[in-house]
Amino acid sequence: MIPIRIAAVVDVTEAEGPGARFAVWVQGCSIRCPGCCNPHMFDHAGGQAIEPATLLARLDGVRDRVEGMTFLGGEPFEQAAALVPLARGVRERGLSVVAFTGHRLEELQGDRPAGSRELLAWVDLLVDGPYDATLPEAGRRWAGSANQRFHFLTGRYSPGVETIVPGGPERTVELRLTPDGRLERSGWPEG
Ligand code: SF4
Repeated sequence: MIPIRIAAVVDVTEAEGPGARFAVWVQGCSIRCPGCCNPHMFDHAGGQAIEPATLLARLDGVRDRVEGMTFLGGEPFEQAAALVPLARGVRERGLSVVAFTGHRLEELQGDRPAGSRELLAWVDLLVDGPYDATLPEAGRRWAGSANQRFHFLTGRYSPGVETIVPGGPERTVELRLTPDGRLERSGWPEG
């Protein structure tokens, strides 16, 4: 299998899609939206390489605590071929796949970047489009800007899951102290 170049992994988070999720930040993004909050994930040579099977084994360790896996980054579809076995393994476990991308769905359906069409077949919920700092998102969880679209590609999630309603969950930002003393943030705003 092709190793995946990743920037970060969080085993259980409630800030990166519906429910509690295992989140994988993919390393490398050529889109480079102005105002992106993860510019340290632009370099395709950065981060570290990891086998899909290693991530699936780690997922199995928290399987009873999460409802799925989220791909974000960085640009997941620039490593589409490497992510296919991982996404397939998640779905075969009965869990869901959510992916954030700076590309538009139509590009991915046209197999741009290469391998996107195959990866798309394993995605339940896709949030697409480049981050636009001039269009701040107000009413939806997880989206960074108002131009981004939610695509419900399977019946796993329904339109409205992302809508902020009075009394319901709002945008979530999580802060974690790493073992080496660094403070990590996840959640809004995401590209
Ligand atoms: S917001 Fe996403 S697509 Fe845009 S530059 Fe950042 S990582 Fe890439």
